[in-house]
Amino acid sequence: MKNDLNIDTKCVQAGYTPLNGEPRQIPIIQSTTFKYDTSEDMGALFDLEAEGYFYSRLQNPTCDMVAAKICALEGGTAAMLTGSGQAANFYAVFNIAANGDHIVSSSSIYGGTFNLFSVTMKKMGLEVTFVSPDCTEEELEAAFRPNTKAVFGETIANPALTVLDIEMFAKAAHRHGVPLIIDNTFATPINCRPIEWGADIVTHSTTKYMDGHGAGLGGAIVDSGNFNWMQYPDKFPGLCTPDDSYHGVIYCEKFGLGKAFITKCTAQLMRDFGSVQSPQNAFILNLGLESLHVRMARHCENGQKVAEFLNQHEKIAYVSYCGLPGDKYYERAKKYLPNGSCGVVSFGVKGGREAANKFMAALKICAIETHVADARSCCLHPANTTHRQMSDEELIAAGVLPDMVRLSCGLESAEDLIEDIAQALATL
Ligand SMILES: *Cc1c(COP(=O)(O)O)cnc(C)c1O
Repeated sequence: MKNDLNIDTKCVQAGYTPLNGEPRQIPIIQSTTFKYDTSEDMGALFDLEAEGYFYSRLQNPTCDMVAAKICALEGGTAAMLTGSGQAANFYAVFNIAANGDHIVSSSSIYGGTFNLFSVTMKKMGLEVTFVSPDCTEEELEAAFRPNTKAVFGETIANPALTVLDIEMFAKAAHRHGVPLIIDNTFATPINCRPIEWGADIVTHSTTKYMDGHGAGLGGAIVDSGNFNWMQYPDKFPGLCTPDDSYHGVIYCEKFGLGKAFITKCTAQLMRDFGSVQSPQNAFILNLGLESLHVRMARHCENGQKVAEFLNQHEKIAYVSYCGLPGDKYYERAKKYLPNGSCGVVSFGVKGGREAANKFMAALKICAIETHVADARSCCLHPANTTHRQMSDEELIAAGVLPDMVRLSCGLESAEDLIEDIAQALATL
């Protein structure tokens, strides 16, 4: 497929081009294993000497087609699917950082990722320094250590809706010889392609807008191919020195900078941890991707209208939505998200936690769910649910105020959504 096609066309067609007489839709290869004529044929695959499939924990053709589409959307050189967004972020970091290493992360990130970094990966011997997404260049510089291996942030943070200065974070990372990993879940490549701003690795919870229908859990990792690991062999020995578990293969040499990161991630981490996405889920994800460009425009339109309505309502204490003039991130969003951000709006109801809960219970169209970025509107009280393990200080650092409601505007009519919100506010 030509690389200069519009992203709308890539949503519909990238990743799979059927040959004469082949199925028009991507085939679901529902097979754990693949058959070979000789053991030698298969041995070459185990040695990473030949390309092909042998076991769906490592690679599956359906998953690879969908990964190729996401790779094309983000403008990367290689990509892989994972079983969840959590697995994608864990693999992206753990592929280059391990026991004794350190990462710098924006403090305004998804609660699950915060937990992964600050609790679980800490147990694995990896340390993290959190910095505000609005830190100065000097504050960001001060967070680096000699053993820092990566910088991490979210384009639009879930649920705080902060917008990251990707360029500033990328430049700082590169000054210290480490890659910038960006979780682009909320913006999607329709609204922002972090690689164009200097990000080296992009991750996704495909569970959200990419699937878009609350149907299939999944994740993805995309490599830009731009980071020159070989310039820092001491920092990234896993990519630049022999891998004993594959007869001494050196990923950067054998697969080149474009494919080394993803090949290592598949060959080692997927082999050993096995958080695969099923071919069925990949097929469902691909259905979502086919309309991603059409749906995102509507999610953004509904988000904007709902944010504007809330912003002038007397029972609302504050609204966070970067499409609102006067929002803290309005100017930054004009640079990174010129076509819109997402359909998620965060706000506080006057009266605090109690009023927020009463308001949410009174909603009829918007359901209370852990989910977000779905065709059906839904809402959540993060301090009570996804972020309940955090202290008040941690909540505030993460931009999640204790009274904050996160409303994910779906694809319904904006008029109906606003009417629903208005009647729920009227019960207060
Ligand atoms: C939901 C989410 C994740 C985790 O993804 P799962 O698919 O639920 O594992 C990671 N990052 C962001 C920004 C998310 O919104």
